[in-house]
Amino acid sequence: QVSSPARYLQGLNPEQRDAVETTEGALLVLAGAGTGKTRVLTTRIAHILASRRAFPSQILAVTFTNKAAREMKVRIGALIGGEQTEGMPWLGTFHSIGVKILRRHGELVGLRSDFTILDTDDQIRLMKQVIQAAGLDDKRWPARQLANLIDGWKNRGLSPDKIPDSDAYAFANGRGRELYTAYQERLKTLNAVDFGDLLTECVRLFREHPDVLASFQQRFRYILVDEYQDTNVAQYLWLRLLAQRPEGERANICCVGDDDQSIYGWRGAEVANILRFDHDFPGAKVIRLERNYRSTGHILAAASRLIAQNESRLGKTLFPATDDMGAPVMVASGWDSSEEARSIGEDIERKQRQGISLNEIAILVRASFQMREFEDRFVTLGLPYRVIGGPRFFERMEIRDALAYLRVTQNPADGLAFERIVNTPKRGLGAATIQLIHSHARSRDIPLLAAAGELAATEEIKPRQRQALGDLVRNFARWSEMLEHTPHPELAEIILEESGYIEMWQRDRSPEAPGRLENLKELVNNLGEYDSLGGFLEHVSLVMDTEGGETEEAVSIMTLHSAKGLEFDVVYLPGWEEGLFPHQRALDESGKAGLEEERRLAYVGLTRARRHATIWFVGNRRVHGLWQSTLPSRFIDDLPEDHVEVAEPASYGGYGGAGHYGSGGYGGSRFERMEPFDSAYRTPGWQRAKSNRDRADPRNRTGRGPTTLEGELVAKSVIGGT
Ligand code: ATP
Ligand code: MG
Repeated sequence: QVSSPARYLQGLNPEQRDAVETTEGALLVLAGAGTGKTRVLTTRIAHILASRRAFPSQILAVTFTNKAAREMKVRIGALIGGEQTEGMPWLGTFHSIGVKILRRHGELVGLRSDFTILDTDDQIRLMKQVIQAAGLDDKRWPARQLANLIDGWKNRGLSPDKIPDSDAYAFANGRGRELYTAYQERLKTLNAVDFGDLLTECVRLFREHPDVLASFQQRFRYILVDEYQDTNVAQYLWLRLLAQRPEGERANICCVGDDDQSIYGWRGAEVANILRFDHDFPGAKVIRLERNYRSTGHILAAASRLIAQNESRLGKTLFPATDDMGAPVMVASGWDSSEEARSIGEDIERKQRQGISLNEIAILVRASFQMREFEDRFVTLGLPYRVIGGPRFFERMEIRDALAYLRVTQNPADGLAFERIVNTPKRGLGAATIQLIHSHARSRDIPLLAAAGELAATEEIKPRQRQALGDLVRNFARWSEMLEHTPHPELAEIILEESGYIEMWQRDRSPEAPGRLENLKELVNNLGEYDSLGGFLEHVSLVMDTEGGETEEAVSIMTLHSAKGLEFDVVYLPGWEEGLFPHQRALDESGKAGLEEERRLAYVGLTRARRHATIWFVGNRRVHGLWQSTLPSRFIDDLPEDHVEVAEPASYGGYGGAGHYGSGGYGGSRFERMEPFDSAYRTPGWQRAKSNRDRADPRNRTGRGPTTLEGELVAKSVIGGT
């Protein structure tokens, strides 16, 4: 029953096969969307294993998201059959592999193996403390801004001593470097790292401990990287170190990517890494794949024309693998975002009736705020959906509180978690007491929990608080001890009970309280799926997407950024409006380069679709609570007429024959408000949109564009790699 090599190689085209079989040396596969790059990587791993070139543990494969890693594991298993069950390759995101390495060797860079990974929220809180401790006003110098700066430095692989002087002046009149240093010191005290550290600390480890690096270099006989166009400098340095070989030897490294899909420039990704490949790995072979197996003709033609408007690109040819032109790309429009959500909801129900699985349907948004409208609508319709890459379950208040208890139990030095729950439920430990704990911890240079323990034994605080604090500290000591011999789901239940946290919600009369209790139950259930509490907490910090309910069929809602590498039969692309997409901030901050990155994002969106793609724009959108009039995106003009069909609102949204907006509660007054942009919606021909837009150049508009780039959240989860 040994699978013959022929089986998994079957069906590959000659170039793909070449890429799979060129296992030795450096290889770059540079190719457009849907040409089978990821498939090549997966098959390559199967080939290396099946031909016994390496054991699974000698393969390092880097994917962009955890989801992609999971899928790849399944596919490799299917390709090589059950024969290779001993161990799996090191397969995951840069960050998850970074964690694995630091758990083993972190002591060498001052991390105990039970270190905590901070999420954005914790990071910001810590940053705020650092700013305040430096005697700065955190209103004038916001923590979030410092966090962005430090993230940026870490993405570029810069430690505090390496940041350029000009950069150091970007915050608090030149105190950027000092704050960065202080922040890193605080992290060490907490035995914690942030996402950026997962790479930069690895790089430091490799540089300061050549023996450790050498052991990994020997271990990883084959290195594979997906979505190479989006690696940032830190990731690049990390890879370079691992792929270094002594004189005369060459690394077996295979990177696949598409410069047209580079969409993380704003987070420090360098498409130049692709261009430099040949220089980094002299003699590297380059293979191009030109046949797109994913999308039907119209979709591919529309996407190709769109991306052709970008000037800075390597340029690639892309043919459809089938003669089937399929359906044209639909361009639909409506009055506002709730009409958009309603129409898309109805269309999804129609598709469902036609027998299309909900799993094959996705809504890809530019900014995460766009999601809520769809979520609300789908809840009303009873249409199952899942939000991918977005923080949902684990972001909930009660879940974060519960996690904080678990984190302190797991890692008593985790001061941020301790601070979160020290007075939740209320224990009469007010700001003054907490301040006292803080200063005691600082002066003694010990963790908060330890400081609380010491304080509770002194006369420095009032008897009642002393009692409460003492109880809490003793409880944590006991729980940590129980960790040794109590199953962790059971322990979690005990902690939530004994801490009074469950009771707090049981007493709460708010309408949300029952739901919160259910969520806490769900959390305990979820815990049982992990080997250990540590394993679970690691999972939580790495994966921000909702993992539950994967078995149920559901529509996927996600940002364009997190859709990279995925594919669906039916794709909806709402919100193609100037200011939202292209996003105003990208235009303001990066000008033409920003516009081109936005266009690549549009290309990524369109090329996710196998058979149906529908683009939407509306005339009115609420951004941060304010209604704004909007104009169709210039990307709509980029689409070739021959491959696009403009949906008449009346025929599209299923409003019956009552005229465009005559039914469904659209009264005359609202209709009038639409006047200035009306033509764009009624005229068959998005070209009209263009003249409308030219009349009102967004740069001259008084209304502010949306200000939150999707992003921060997804960025976190993606690099987790969600
Ligand atoms: P992206 O740039 O979007 O990440 P990709 O280049 O990684 O795309 P894949 O996801 O590997 O492309 O492949 C796209 C689709 O085409 C998948 O469904 C894959 O199974 C299919 N495919 C790839 N190669 C072939 C082939 N030779 N024959 C049939 N189908 C193929
Ligand atoms: Mg891919």
